[in-house]
Amino acid sequence: MKKLALHWQILLGMALGVIFALLMTNFTWGADFIEDWIKPFGTIFINSLKLIAVPLILASLIKGVSDLKDISQLSKMGFRTIGIYIITTIIAVSIGLLMVNLVKPGSTITEETRTELVESYGGDADLTRQNAEKQKEAGPLQALVDIVPSNIVGAAGSNANMLQVIFFAIFFGIGLILIPEKQSEPVKKFFDGFNEVILKMIDIIMLTAPFGVFALLAALVVEAPSADLFIALGMYALCVIGGLLLMIVIYTLLVWVFTKKTPSFFINGISPAQLLAFSTSSSAATLPVTMERVEEHLGVGKEVSSFVLPIGATINMDGTSLYQAVAAVFIAQAFGMDLSFSVQLGIIATATLASIGSAAVPGAGMVMLVIVLAQAGIPEAGLALIFAIDRPLDMCRTTVNVTGDASVSMLIAKSVGKLRDKPLVKNWDDNYKK
Ligand code: ASP
Repeated sequence: MKKLALHWQILLGMALGVIFALLMTNFTWGADFIEDWIKPFGTIFINSLKLIAVPLILASLIKGVSDLKDISQLSKMGFRTIGIYIITTIIAVSIGLLMVNLVKPGSTITEETRTELVESYGGDADLTRQNAEKQKEAGPLQALVDIVPSNIVGAAGSNANMLQVIFFAIFFGIGLILIPEKQSEPVKKFFDGFNEVILKMIDIIMLTAPFGVFALLAALVVEAPSADLFIALGMYALCVIGGLLLMIVIYTLLVWVFTKKTPSFFINGISPAQLLAFSTSSSAATLPVTMERVEEHLGVGKEVSSFVLPIGATINMDGTSLYQAVAAVFIAQAFGMDLSFSVQLGIIATATLASIGSAAVPGAGMVMLVIVLAQAGIPEAGLALIFAIDRPLDMCRTTVNVTGDASVSMLIAKSVGKLRDKPLVKNWDDNYKK
């Protein structure tokens, strides 16, 4: 029997997960069953991907940096990468602002609904608020301080801080460039082999992906909040999703214009990573697969992908920044506030920074949204309005975050002559259908 390609298996897993959960909600014990017996498998799947992320960043970034031969090549690529990341983020925020100002979804919320929701601002939203307060209290240079770990085991430990791991890996890579070749060669060889082992581990984990996403989606469906609020929030969601789709179109066009790779080539190559981003809501958990797809199917050289993608997963969140802009203005509209042009310009700046600061994990974008709200003088209690619908939007924005990273890695690879004409494998099947 012909085996189904993995991205179809993943899609099937997602669909079956939703159907299964919908059927189970007919039973009184259905939700508990999914919570106790299905959800843990989803958690195991996400954990195993996260487990791979830190060693993968370490091995591939150290190797990537040390392959660059000299520091000037590193800084050239570094500046280009950060530059393009910031430009795409600003484009995303601007699109978000345009959409929300045109559609004005917040003005449909009645005063009653608003008061009711804001009064209920507690429970789950409480945790968001506490985290958000911590963010607000941090000094202006805290973000910089957070990049430099005092202890590498701590940085890579539980709640791994990706930026700290990236900092260590780049620093280590620079050291490796600067020592004589005779000494650096065995270290490079070690990380080469280490990298290969990690990639093999990703292959193995991905074999379980259809089951993992089944469990994740089933758990999401039974946790979904009540339906009546969805109508009021529908237009807001449409603004976010419309903007996100536009971003995907922009990425494919950019890739097409600058690298001559067609939209179907790009989307085919990256789609398994997109599906995974959608099911996990985490760019960090998706990173191993993004790297593999970009290298093997889109033709990006390892020295580029191993540098551009881990940094992108951590700081380039176009989907998140777009969502933050729409959400901030939506809340302002719901509170009957009229935001001036200069306040909206301020939102461009803060949403760009807030998205850079958002961790690549589920829900992080919503926590950082508070910074945007505070800066623009929008009541933070408005978070209660968008809480119910945040998870599905998180799934969509994470998909865009990952797509953005992949497209920028292609642009950078093209600009430094590291984009192969032919991908290493022609399609997913060659890779996974053994
Ligand atoms: N979940 C997003 C990500 O990992 C971050 C966010 O919450 O917007 O990319």
